[in-house]
Amino acid sequence: MDADAVEFVILGVAQDGGVPHAGCSCQRCIAALADPNLRRNPVACGVRGADGSLHLIEASRSLSEQLAIWSSALWLDAGLRPDTVCLTHAHLGHIDGLGQFGIEVMGMGGVPLFASSSVIDVVVKRGLSSPFVCCAVEPGVGFRPSEDCGFEYVFVPVPHRDEEADTHAVVVRGPNSSVLFLPDHDDWEQTLELHGADGIREWLSQLGVGIALLDGTFWDASELPGRDISQIPHPMITDTLKRLGERKEDDPVVLFVHMNHSNPVLDSTSKEAHKVDELGWSVAEQSSVLRL
Ligand SMILES: [Zn+2]
Ligand SMILES: [Zn+2]
Repeated sequence: MDADAVEFVILGVAQDGGVPHAGCSCQRCIAALADPNLRRNPVACGVRGADGSLHLIEASRSLSEQLAIWSSALWLDAGLRPDTVCLTHAHLGHIDGLGQFGIEVMGMGGVPLFASSSVIDVVVKRGLSSPFVCCAVEPGVGFRPSEDCGFEYVFVPVPHRDEEADTHAVVVRGPNSSVLFLPDHDDWEQTLELHGADGIREWLSQLGVGIALLDGTFWDASELPGRDISQIPHPMITDTLKRLGERKEDDPVVLFVHMNHSNPVLDSTSKEAHKVDELGWSVAEQSSVLRL
């Protein structure tokens, strides 16, 4: 491991409810109850700075499991604690681990928490802010979460059921390459329009990223019988694939994240996962390490 490498670890790949999903008796959830290898944490990432500092993106309720994944992926001390936390938005699975930084669990204090000002308002209103020093982030303005970490975060606004607070994607700009982390947005139409881009490729190239973790919540609209999918808007993977077509040599790497328990790509042997693969894109896997 280079002393000055910046390493990005995928700590969870599921939608907010994780796999197994509460109140679900689908085959995937039942199988995951029986076999820990089939469980998937809600989406989160850990970035290890060039100076060894540790920066968590999203605080899910699977935090203890996720810190263990982080430590074993990078051979770090099993008792590691994040130096900073960064949040894309205030929906359940992205913030329900914040309480674990407090007195009942890790008993931490003064941890910098980076989020938009409306997300910070939610965190404060819910009484979750005491372990943190809240730092409101200005969209589009790069900043280092700590002095010598050797990378920058840039918040990118995206439209997403903003009932309580707004939503951002985060670009992690490392010394050699950059990642876009976009776990949740409503649809490509609105996101691309907001950024004045004609297509996904054009937008990713505007952002200057070589790797993009994209919202892969649902495979297609047939996935949730009995629930109105328009109430939980996300671009379908089938739509994203249609827009992307086949991967060409200079294209960025795309990894789908934030999969709902119902999404067939969670099974790497499914025909849907093969389709993603065939086109040259990928489904993200927990504990993968990207070197930036
Ligand atoms: Zn989510
Ligand atoms: Zn299920």
